[in-house]
Amino acid sequence: MKVIDHINNAKKTLFTFEILPPLKGQNIQHIYNNIDPLMEFKPPFINVTYHREELIYKRLESGLLEPKVVKKRPGTVGICAALMNKYHVDPVPHILCGGFTKEDTENALIDLDFLGIENVLALRGDSMKNETYFVPEKGGHNFAHELVSQIQGMNEGEYLDEELQNKSQTNFSIGVAGYPEKHFEATSLNMDIRYLKEKVEAGADYIVTQLFFDNKKYFEFVKKCREAGITCPIIPGIKPIATKKHLTVIPHQFFVDIPDELALEVIKCKDNKAVRQVGVEWAIQQSKELLDFGVPVLHYYSMGKSDNIYNVAKELF
Ligand code: FAD
Repeated sequence: MKVIDHINNAKKTLFTFEILPPLKGQNIQHIYNNIDPLMEFKPPFINVTYHREELIYKRLESGLLEPKVVKKRPGTVGICAALMNKYHVDPVPHILCGGFTKEDTENALIDLDFLGIENVLALRGDSMKNETYFVPEKGGHNFAHELVSQIQGMNEGEYLDEELQNKSQTNFSIGVAGYPEKHFEATSLNMDIRYLKEKVEAGADYIVTQLFFDNKKYFEFVKKCREAGITCPIIPGIKPIATKKHLTVIPHQFFVDIPDELALEVIKCKDNKAVRQVGVEWAIQQSKELLDFGVPVLHYYSMGKSDNIYNVAKELF
């Protein structure tokens, strides 16, 4: 079933979460061990991230560095199929512009369609670590709205080869990313929202936000989106802080602020066990306020570990 139909049919706020494919070499059991406890809260869909190739440098015996392109977390599509099979939930694979030609995208969407997957989250992706800004694949997309247009086109039976006969239509519900604290490359939040509207007009059914720790930022973002004419559901993304290191890693990686009150509580903690508790309590308070606001879905970023998400969800669902 499509995410947008889950949202439209729901009588109360839904619980969902995002998982990462395991590092190459790890077993899928690792994923199941994390998901099993969370199934108690009946997530109707689960997002699975996509990780593009990375350029690493391997030191040779001679001391020289050899560049090597590696994919550290393959398996997004395989995990989606496994989730459908094991848990009977709707998987939402993330699909990127980065590293894909339009042809690659079309073929990936055909695979998803054949598997019976009806949802995708369409993203541009970040630049490779060796690049200072995003460089699209030759013959690929520059921005997520172009990817949304291609997916929407396939939903209407448009393929790259116009001469194909008996073309079937795909049936994807498309989600896109939104940034309550602005995407780091955007010239302003208003311009970012303008481009977000472009993604919705191209065919996106709903928006999932970047993680945030201050609900005021989300409320303000929703208000600005509505003023700009964006009417679709805006799903808030929540991540419980789990380590002291997160105080520096999260702002650096996700370009979001951590409220002073939360940062000071984390700094006071003796160890990361105490930090996890502070993170869980903060996420519970955030979630309660968002539930009161009437959000359609509470979406949690598990980043490979689910015990803290479980502790948040058991207070709310
Ligand atoms: P876009 O919507 O294309 O926007 C990128 C930038 O370009 C923004 O600054 C925007 O303002 C600007 N822009 C957009 N359109 C135009 C235009 N027409 N002209 C000029 N400027 C424009 N990354 C992964 O690699 N894998 C994942 O699985 C993944 N999952 C994510 C899930 C969520 C919920 C979120 C919020 C992010 C996720 N990301 C993931 C990160 C994402 O790929 C990056 O944030 C990326 O830098 C931007 O992607 P986007 O789809 O928002 O890009």
